[in-house]
Amino acid sequence: MPSARIGPVRTPPKIHLGDLTITALDGGGLWLDGGAMFGIIPKPLWSKLVQVDAFNRIPLATTCFLTETAGKKILVETGTGPAAKYDDKEQGFFSFSPYWIVNSLEAIGVGREEIDLVILTHLHFDHAGGGTIADGRGGYGPTFPRAKYVVQRGEWEDAVTGHAVMSGTYRPQNLAPLEVAGVLSLIGNAPAEICPGITVRPMPGHTRHQQAVIFESGGKRAILPGDLMPTAAHAGLRYNMAYDLLPFENMVNKKALLEELAGKGDLLFIGQDPAEFCWRSSQAQGRFSLAPVNTA
Ligand SMILES: [Zn+2]
Repeated sequence: MPSARIGPVRTPPKIHLGDLTITALDGGGLWLDGGAMFGIIPKPLWSKLVQVDAFNRIPLATTCFLTETAGKKILVETGTGPAAKYDDKEQGFFSFSPYWIVNSLEAIGVGREEIDLVILTHLHFDHAGGGTIADGRGGYGPTFPRAKYVVQRGEWEDAVTGHAVMSGTYRPQNLAPLEVAGVLSLIGNAPAEICPGITVRPMPGHTRHQQAVIFESGGKRAILPGDLMPTAAHAGLRYNMAYDLLPFENMVNKKALLEELAGKGDLLFIGQDPAEFCWRSSQAQGRFSLAPVNTA
C-alpha cells in the first residue's frame, strides 16, 4: 500500500473528477497518542488496526487537497505547519515531519502566492497550522497571501474562545494573523457552494461546527469529512476520538455518511490515514467496510 506520508514529491497522486483536478499533498506527518485517538475502544482492538510505537503513539498524515478548476487553485486543509512553530516539548510529543505544505507545493512548482482560496474543515492545529507563516518580524501572517480562508463562523468562534477538550489545539498564531490580514471568509451553518465544483456542509461531532468539503463535477463526487473519521481505522461507528466534543453526534453523522457513500459509490477522502487518502465505502449486514482506491 503506498503511503499518504510521501513528503514533498514531484508527482503526487492526482484524481480527476469532471472539471476538477485534485492533487493529494503531504502537509506534514505527526504522531498522536493511540488511546486518545480511539476514545472508548480498548487497545487490544484498535492496536490490531494501526501501527503503535513504544510511546503508545500512532502515525498520522495531514493530507491537503490542491484542487484546480477554471484556472483557480483551491487548497483544502493546510496540515501541521512547520515544526519550528512548535516548542521543543511539543516537537518531542508529536515528532513532526521536517517539511510542511509549502514544501509539498514547491515540489510540484506551485508558489504559495498562487493559491486563490483556502478551505479548512476546522481549526485544530494539524489542519490550520500551515495557514500562517512567520513574517520575519517575530509575528505571523497568512501563508497564502492572495487567498481568502473559508471557515465556519461557529468553528471560528469556538477556536478563538478555546472551546476544545485538547488544550492548545486552537493556537493564536494560526488564528489572529488571518483576522488581522482580513482574509477570513466566515460562512453560516448551512451547506454552501464555495466555487463551482466545491461545496461545504456542516459535519458536527468532532467539533461543534466542523465542515465537510464536497468535490463534485461531471457526475463524480468525493467527500472529505474532516476529523469525522481521521483514519480508515475509525470506520467503526464507535471508533471516535477522545478529542471529539460530541461523540454521539459524530457516530450518527459517520453512519449517515458511510451509508450515503456506500449507496452512491462516491469517493471518501480520509485526510489523516498514514497509508491512503482515497477510499470507497460498502455496507453488508449492517456493517461498513472501506476499501482503498488505487490512485497511483
Ligand atoms: Zn481535529
